[in-house]
Amino acid sequence: MNRRRMVAASLAAAGLAHLAKPRPLAAQGTALPLTPACEGDARVTRRQTEGPFFRPASPAKRDLRGDGSGDMLVLSGFVLTPQCRPVPGARVNLWHADADGEYDRSGFRFRGHQFTDDAGRYQFITRVPGLYPGRTRHFHVKVQAGRGPVLTTQLYFPDEPRNARDGIFDRALLMEIRPADGGRLGRFDFVIPA
Ligand code: FE
Repeated sequence: MNRRRMVAASLAAAGLAHLAKPRPLAAQGTALPLTPACEGDARVTRRQTEGPFFRPASPAKRDLRGDGSGDMLVLSGFVLTPQCRPVPGARVNLWHADADGEYDRSGFRFRGHQFTDDAGRYQFITRVPGLYPGRTRHFHVKVQAGRGPVLTTQLYFPDEPRNARDGIFDRALLMEIRPADGGRLGRFDFVIPA
């Protein structure tokens, strides 16, 4: 079995295990450990275009559920240095399409930012973004520590049929997604340049 198949098989098994034993999202949503799993060096997260729908000055907001309908998704992770040290107080800015694949171009629905906690963790509670022509399913993110450089990128969902046909899709930017009671849990750790 090649490596990709093995990874796929073990992920599928893990997914099934979680399907069999769902825990409430509310209980899992804050379950991020206090320290990141990586050791030593981590690779800086790849940059991607911000796209045409970025709007500056988003509100400080981590719970975007009220901005529309759709399946709930809790997205969490760390912001880390290349030496795998958590970065407290980093600004994480999230924006994405609504369930119909539309961006709010005049207001701030499904747009918000927050700062990582003392352990370098961020968390958003939101809805699964819808699809729009030409793209696979994705989130847009900007991450910045202090007045440092802004890391602009996008996050992707595994097992999306459109991933294979999206010209800017990058599997290095796949979230780890697990089903949970009431929605899905997404996990992605950002590594920002030193
Ligand atoms: Fe987009």
